[in-house]
Amino acid sequence: MLVDSHCHLDRIDLSPYDGELAAAVRAAQERGVDRMLCIGIDLNNAPKVVEIAQQFDNIYASVGIHPLDISDDICEVDALVELSAQEKVIAIGETGLDYYYSAEKRVLQQDSFANHLKASVKTGKPVIVHTRDAREDTLSLIQQHGDPKVAGVLHCFTESWEMASAAMEMGYYISFSGIITFKNAAELRDVVKKVPMERLLVETDSPYLAPVPYRGKKNEPKYVREVAECVAELKGLSFEQVAEQSSRNFDRLFNLV
Ligand SMILES: [Zn+2]
Ligand SMILES: [Zn+2]
Repeated sequence: MLVDSHCHLDRIDLSPYDGELAAAVRAAQERGVDRMLCIGIDLNNAPKVVEIAQQFDNIYASVGIHPLDISDDICEVDALVELSAQEKVIAIGETGLDYYYSAEKRVLQQDSFANHLKASVKTGKPVIVHTRDAREDTLSLIQQHGDPKVAGVLHCFTESWEMASAAMEMGYYISFSGIITFKNAAELRDVVKKVPMERLLVETDSPYLAPVPYRGKKNEPKYVREVAECVAELKGLSFEQVAEQSSRNFDRLFNLV
């Protein structure tokens, strides 16, 4: 009944599962995590994430070029449209802007993000947006090239309430990761409290960012439960309520109902 809305299943550590992805998926299901969205980061891993999604009923895929994985030739709109036409691909991304790690490639990142937004509007498939230290440019590109009816999600959200609320006005959803469980994330927890439950998703971003009490270990989809439990505590809701509402949001955003 819980969805991990953002995981990199082609990169998670399968050594506890004898190398079997199916066993990791089962371990997640045993903890109530029944669906996952496996995220593409570039043209090299696109075939792999699509293959994973096509192999498992309860896994979907996205295709796109991560802002930190852009080569000098950015992916054209038509190529993105074509990639996303494959079975089980429900979203475009991850795309976006990351000026924290790569400010020198700003212009290239912006052009690439614009292409993803255009492909999203063309296909009606929402965008998965990665944004770090690029609040204004992220919002203005969405404003310029996005369509609120298609919208998307700001994933692994770590920015301000102002940014969250501006994005929600353009139809976006906000996805929180294990970072909200970290000791030093008090400000972000205030943002979680303010984001309406109808617009909230949860994710692991595995293999990165394992939540407390697994912080520092390798992350995997089964730990999205700790993220949902943290949201529940912050909002005075039960785990079941958060699981159910965030799953409903996932279905609404990605047109699965
Ligand atoms: Zn990301
Ligand atoms: Zn990611």
